[in-house]
Amino acid sequence: MEKRKVIILGTGPAGLTAAIYAARANLEPLVIEGDQPGGQLTITTDVENFPGFPDGILGPELMENMRKQAEKFGAAFLSGWVTAVDFSQRPFKITVDEEKQYDAEAVIISTGASAKMLGIPGETENIGHGVSTCATCDGFFFRGKRIIVVGGGDSAMEEANFLTKFASELTIVHRRSTLRASKVMQDRARNNSKIKWELDTTPISVQTDGAKVTGLEVKDNQTGETRVLETEGIFVAIGHQPNTAFLGGQIDVDPVGYITRTDPLTTATNIPGVFACGDVADAHYRQAITAAGSGCQAAMDAEKFIEGSSSHDWSLSLSK
Ligand code: NAP
Repeated sequence: MEKRKVIILGTGPAGLTAAIYAARANLEPLVIEGDQPGGQLTITTDVENFPGFPDGILGPELMENMRKQAEKFGAAFLSGWVTAVDFSQRPFKITVDEEKQYDAEAVIISTGASAKMLGIPGETENIGHGVSTCATCDGFFFRGKRIIVVGGGDSAMEEANFLTKFASELTIVHRRSTLRASKVMQDRARNNSKIKWELDTTPISVQTDGAKVTGLEVKDNQTGETRVLETEGIFVAIGHQPNTAFLGGQIDVDPVGYITRTDPLTTATNIPGVFACGDVADAHYRQAITAAGSGCQAAMDAEKFIEGSSSHDWSLSLSK
């Protein structure tokens, strides 16, 4: 059993920023990487809104830089998947890959969120054969082909605009007649002459020829009629699910699964000594810079908790 002052779960902008701050505070953090080291930014291309990079920076490069910065100050990284946690008493217990056990005085949860799926027949079994959740990863494979993007939020608009670089024809399928996306993103998509729209239309099933995707069966919500939109590629861009299932109900979450922090001024959860930062606790902003900012807060909260020097009463978390 290895014992650590701080264990950080996840390596997106929140986890890596927490690692930089915790390492610089001599807390020698252990960072558990999860199944997507670097998080969601590793599957994006240009990041143009992270301060400090006037010409933008590639997502994977930004994450690699953050990781190097954390390592430089002494953060240790462990490749693995957290399979169980025990927050019933301190030190907290973290099990990685069902076998390795770690003790921690404080834990920072920064496990982010994963792409949501439609849950329709033919969808998951055709991931990699025409169904994708990542335009920047897979768009290239659909050069000169027909593409459908499902969703009405900013992600769907962004993916659709990006995919018009490759598609011969691109259609956005959205279940309502109005979009959820911000005005600027909507305008960008609406002004893109390559994008066609199928609004008020619900996806029913993914059609294939046995080997690859050939169409998306949809229902017109007004008439109830079903038909097949022919396509070679279906990009599902309907939001994300916070990665909190592994917590086994020990940390309070909202109905969607986002961790609810018990004090808006800190990153405290319902368990004193367990802190949450980044997308796993943010259903609203979900930006790299807000995740990084909350990672900094979580490391500072953990440091003060371990020192016992904060005027904050962490046990308040339990009574709220
Ligand atoms: P989102 O805002 O939650 O939108 C999800 C979309 O998918 C909604 O239109 C929703 O339909 C639809 N949807 C959800 N479940 C569905 C289902 N089972 N079947 C069919 N459609 C379904 O998620 P997001 O677009 O990923 O954006 C998340 C956050 O990230 C937002 O705050 C957004 O502003 C931000 N973001 C920003 C940028 C940017 O500024 N560059 C880019 C991407 C994301 P309904 O509308 O009917 O609910």
